[in-house]
This record gives sequence, structure tokens and C-alpha cells, in this order.
Amino acid sequence: MHVDRDITPAELAKILADSDDTALRAEAYRQKVALLGKKVALRGLIECSNICGKNCLYCGIRGGNAKVVRYRMTEDEIVEAATWAAENRYGSIVLQAGEIQNEANTALVERVLTRIHTQFGDDLGVTLSLGEQTEDVYRRWRAAGAHRYLLRIESSNPELYARIHPADHSWQTRRECLCTLKRLGYIVGTGVMIGLPGQTVADLAGDIAFFRDEGVDMIGMGPYLPHPETPLAAAAAPAFSAYAMTLRMIALTRLCLPDVNIASTTALQAIAPDGREQGILSGANVIMPNVTPRKYREEYLLYPNKPCTHEDSELCRGCLGRRIHSIGEEIAWGERADPLHARGEER
Ligand code: SAH
Ligand code: SF4
Repeated sequence: MHVDRDITPAELAKILADSDDTALRAEAYRQKVALLGKKVALRGLIECSNICGKNCLYCGIRGGNAKVVRYRMTEDEIVEAATWAAENRYGSIVLQAGEIQNEANTALVERVLTRIHTQFGDDLGVTLSLGEQTEDVYRRWRAAGAHRYLLRIESSNPELYARIHPADHSWQTRRECLCTLKRLGYIVGTGVMIGLPGQTVADLAGDIAFFRDEGVDMIGMGPYLPHPETPLAAAAAPAFSAYAMTLRMIALTRLCLPDVNIASTTALQAIAPDGREQGILSGANVIMPNVTPRKYREEYLLYPNKPCTHEDSELCRGCLGRRIHSIGEEIAWGERADPLHARGEER
């Protein structure tokens, strides 16, 4: 199966609507192996804080969920988790948190980045996933050593976005943030949730066209998992399976955009124990093992049944190696593994 880069959204939708996806996924995996080898890159995920100023209607740690016990890792704890990841040759880390827009938080992240950069230089990839910020904040963090940023658009359809967010959350602002990040020299990642209430196959086809048209370097997509303490909990799911559709989305994205990094997300593993492996076998090439200290993990529940909340990083590391080997792939230990799509450009 050949997919042209300029495939139309209508053609994308036709492929996504076909549940007989064995050939699609096999072809996407062949493409991944041909370009990137039988290797999976790691990003050690540090969930720095669950304090969030936003109220996304689907998210378990939204500001309005009073049942969440809020925490913020200290500077030392974040640097310690980053050090563990570096010493265990993860190659890259991601600092993720709820969205906080104030000087104290900006300065804390800046200090943490400076310490990590001083200690590990360019050997350790440092990605941020800290939500929408001003251009100045993004610039300060870039100067302090961050070089990649993940900000999911959540849906490329502004109308669907509006239905899953409060009125003061803006699709346009999010999109502008992606442009700003790119302009500042970040390697930029975005993504969507799959299986959102009211989402159609045409929306998902539009998502792939959005990734292509925005020229993003990294993509993280996962099934939407309803959280009982959120306003969207009872909303009806679309007719397609979020799990199967996520694998199909990964496969079609790989065929359309061969040189981007695609994450096989933990949310896939929340649905099926081997979900992340199936993501790799559908064309993904990145996994984000949790390296958050064990004591905080249960409080960072974006969605329910999140895997690895009772394990520590050591245990996750061993389990991961076995799982990846079981599908005939190897872990790219110690490699920063920047996306091919971003190489050669000045960063
Ligand atoms: N606050 C930052 C980063 C943390 S949230 C931000 O919003 O960008 C990271 C991602 O978790 C979000 O982009 C969203 O796509 C995902 N997420 C949140 N709630 C979810 C749910 N119920 N099911 C699946 N994914 C969810
Ligand atoms: Fe906050 Fe991110 Fe959750 Fe939205 S998705 S409520 S910004 S943590």
C-alpha cells in the first residue's frame, strides 16, 4: 500500500473507516523498520506537578477536580529523576505537568533546565510538555536547555475542540503556541485524543492532514479514556473502537509522514496490556516510560487505570526491555533519537 504525502482528507478518511487494517499496519511497520530500524527510542517521563490552572473537560487533573491531592516535585527531585533516566541510558526525558503560568513556576523550570543541561550537556534530550505559555517563557526555557516541546492540539477541528473545553480555552491560541515554538527553534510535537465524544472519522483524517500541514516533527496520539470525575465522563463514545482506531491512526500517519517520531502512548497500554507493543508494530518508534517518583504517580491520573502507578522506575525499566524484545525490537539505549524530520535544520 502506498500513501502519497499529498493524500486528500477524503482518502485518509476512507482508509481509517476500513476496520480490515492488517495490511495497513503491516505496511506501516515495514516503513518504520526500513527508515528507523528495529529500534525503539525512550523518553523518561517526569510528571513534575499535577497543579493545573486549566479545566479541560476530559482531564482527571483539571483544576476543577477537588478530589485530586495536588503536588509539585521539588527542584532536587526533578533533577534526581532526570539523573536516574540519564544514568540508565534513556537518552531523553520529558518534563510534563499541569499548566501553570506564573513567574515562580517559569523560574523553577528554568533553574531545573540549567542544572540538567550543566550536568548532561547535549547528550540528554530534554522535552517540555508544560502547556500554553507566552513567547517569552518559551524563549527562556529554550535558552536554558530545552530543545523539544509537546503540545497536543487535542483535535484539529476547532468545533470539536470547543465542545471538550470550557469557553475560555482557545484552539487558536494553542495553534499559535505551536507556531511560536517552531519559530523559537524547538523540535515540535503535537497530537490528538482518539475516541472523543462526537468525534468522526473525518475529524481524524483532518488530524493527519493537520500534522502534515503544520510540519510537526513528533506526534503523540492516544485513545481518549473517560475519567469519572470529569464533566465528559458520561458522554457517549463514537461508534469506532478507540483502541483499534489509534493503531490505525499511527499506521496511516507513519505512511503519510515517514520521517516523524511517533509515540506509542501509555494510554494504549491502559486498554490492552500489550497496547504499546501493538503501537510499535503499527509504525510508532518512541515509548515514554514513567520515571516519576513512585509516591507521586497515583496523583497524576489524567485518565483512570493508568499503568505503572504502583511500580517504581527500576521495575518499569526491566519490564520494558522484556516487552520490546518480545516483538523482536531493541531499545535505543543512550540515544537522543531526534526525529529525522528535524535533522539538518538549525535547532
Ligand atoms: N498540561 C499539559 C500536559 C499534561 S496533559 C497539556 O495539557 O498540554 C497531557 C495530555 O494528556 C493532554 O494533551 C491530553 O491529550 C491527555 N489527556 C488528558 N486527559 C485524558 C484522558 N481522559 N484520556 C486520554 N488522554 C488524556
Ligand atoms: Fe491541565 Fe493539561 Fe489536563 Fe488540560 S489536559 S486540564 S491543561 S493537565
